Amino acid sequence: MTSTRTYRALGLTLRRAPAREADLLSVIYTREHGKLELLARGAQRLTSKLMGHLEPLTLVRVSVARGRSMDQVTEAEVVDAFPAVKNGYENSARGLYVAELVDGFSALSVANAELFSLAVETLEALGTARSADLTLRYFDLQLLRLSGFMPELYNCVECGVDLEPDRHRFAVGAGGALCPDCGPPDVMVRPLSLPALKLLRLLHRTETVGALPELAVPPPLEREVRETLNVTLQYWLDRRVRSQEFLEIAKFA
Ligand SMILES: [Zn+2]
Repeated sequence: MTSTRTYRALGLTLRRAPAREADLLSVIYTREHGKLELLARGAQRLTSKLMGHLEPLTLVRVSVARGRSMDQVTEAEVVDAFPAVKNGYENSARGLYVAELVDGFSALSVANAELFSLAVETLEALGTARSADLTLRYFDLQLLRLSGFMPELYNCVECGVDLEPDRHRFAVGAGGALCPDCGPPDVMVRPLSLPALKLLRLLHRTETVGALPELAVPPPLEREVRETLNVTLQYWLDRRVRSQEFLEIAKFA
C-alpha cells in the first residue's frame, strides 16, 4: 500500500551531481510529477546500485520518500537504459542534447506527460536507423509547442495575413513568420525559404516521431531548419545550448 510519505514514478534521468558525503543529486523528468530533484543517499558508495540506475539518459521506475527539505530515491529499477543512444560519441551527444533541453524548458514539479513521451520516443528513435537529424528537429519543434513557444508558421504574426509562397520571413522575437510588409521594430528578422517553412510545418503536423516520413533532406535545407529552430530555442531559453556545441564537434570528430 502506498502511504502519503512515499510515491512511485516513471522518469527519465537528465543529469546528476555529487552531493554531501556519498550522496547523489539526481534530476529526473517524471511522467507523473514533471521534473524532480531527488537525493539518492549513499549512491556514490561502491555497494550501492543506485549510481548505475541513475546514470543520465535512463528510463527508471523510482520509489521516492518525501523528505523535509528534499525527497529521496529509495529504490530505482531500470526500464530502458537506451544502449543504442549511449553507444558512440555522436549519438551520446544527441541524447544529452535532448536531456539538456528538457531540463532547460521545464520547471520543477510541473507535470507534462506529453513532454515526457516526446523525450522518451526521441531517445527510442535515435537508437534506430531513422534520420537522427530529422528526429532532433522534430524534437526541437514539438518541445517548443509543448512548452507554449510554438512559432507561428501559417499567418503573419503581425498582421495575420495568410502567408503566400516565397513571401515570408521569420522573426523569433515577434513569435514566428512575417509577411514582407511587416517589420516590427527591435526584432531581428531572418530570411526563411519556402522549403524550410514547409519542412517546419511537416514537423508541426506529424503526430509522433515514429510517424515522420523517411525524407532525404538536402544538407543546406537541414542546416537552415536547424539554425531557425536553434535560434528560437536559445531565444526562449535565454542562453546557448551547450550540448548543441558538443554535437557540432562530435559530427566532425
Ligand atoms: Zn504582416
